[in-house]
Amino acid sequence: MRKLILIKYASEIFLKGLNKNKFEKKLQDNIKSALSDIDYEFVKDQGRWFLYSNKVEEIIERVKKVFGISEICLVTEVEADLDKIKEQALIEMKESNVRTFKVETKRANKSFDMKSMEISRDVGAYILKNIEGITVDVKNPQCVINVEIRGKAYIYSKKVKAVGGMPYKTNGKTLLMLSGGIDSPVAGYMMARRGVELNCVYYHSHPYTSERAKDKVKDLAKILKGYIGTIDLYIVPFTDIQMEIINKCREDELTIIMRRFMMRVACQIAGNKEIHSVATGESIGQVASQTMEGLVVSDDVSDRPVFRPLISMDKEDIMDIARKIGTYETSILPYEDCCTIFVPKHPKTKPRLDSIRKSESVLEIDKLVQEAIDNTELIKL
Ligand code: ATP
Ligand code: MG
Repeated sequence: MRKLILIKYASEIFLKGLNKNKFEKKLQDNIKSALSDIDYEFVKDQGRWFLYSNKVEEIIERVKKVFGISEICLVTEVEADLDKIKEQALIEMKESNVRTFKVETKRANKSFDMKSMEISRDVGAYILKNIEGITVDVKNPQCVINVEIRGKAYIYSKKVKAVGGMPYKTNGKTLLMLSGGIDSPVAGYMMARRGVELNCVYYHSHPYTSERAKDKVKDLAKILKGYIGTIDLYIVPFTDIQMEIINKCREDELTIIMRRFMMRVACQIAGNKEIHSVATGESIGQVASQTMEGLVVSDDVSDRPVFRPLISMDKEDIMDIARKIGTYETSILPYEDCCTIFVPKHPKTKPRLDSIRKSESVLEIDKLVQEAIDNTELIKL
């Protein structure tokens, strides 16, 4: 009797036609990296993925965070012998501690001399005989005992819901503007979950923002890294740009002009590193700069798609995801970021593109952007 896990991947991967193999291969590689320090054996059997190990619990904890996996089942392998199957099915049912069940059998090995229906009926009858007060419910059972017969027999009822999404690095690259707040780590998680390779950029306003604020962003990037393996984090010195804006532009336009500089720098880094797109944690209407007009004015200086996966989400829902993915507790630590220090009292909520372009024309835009890029630090996490 051996314990193993059965890995089920997201149904979208089945729809990939000729590309299916490419997605499967990537997913398998990603599982391998997540388990690089654990001993296990990977077996593919007629499209099913099994992992054998004596550390199944640890493996489940890790594999359930690998993007592209929808469900994990804890499976017991026994001889393909009806008595052994019945015994194990009974154990599963006792462990589940519920009142209704059904047995579902799949027989991939047609040389086994009973049909699936007969096996289910026999195993079900055995369970009913040995546990008091339980009934079969085929429509809505509390527990489904799965029996699969291949070379051996596999019995399972315990399923762990995994993270879902698409295999990491199958859908292009993005550069996430990662602040220390609640939203942007969630946005990054959502992009990565759809298979998009994540790189991060943080604008640091030393000495107005402390080293601790920078460390907080690093910590957030490390939490995201837990889902995807490695992350490149670009730290851009942003103080000179902000000082120039404060000294030369109107107070109510500070935020929007600053956001245009963030966008320009992000696009330039992305261009240099062949990253297709930029992503932010903005949500429509959340703050003064996240109005439709504000987003239009920011995007005006972008030379590539800007993705905002949180655009239609409420703060409460974003916070729920932050808690679930483990970034919330770090995000709420009280270190200021550059935006909160330079916030105007009455920011423009409906900036006009032509007037913003005119206001910032007093700045040496290209030079400021280039200096920031030249002094950018890359941290490989
Ligand atoms: P968050 O919770 O992600 O900080 P927020 O609601 O505080 O977002 P803003 O401060 O307006 O919103 O920032 C909007 C988006 O701009 C952020 O989600 C993030 O993508 C990006 N951003 C803001 N400040 C920085 C920064 N210092 N470095 C990198 N990106 C930033
Ligand atoms: Mg913020």
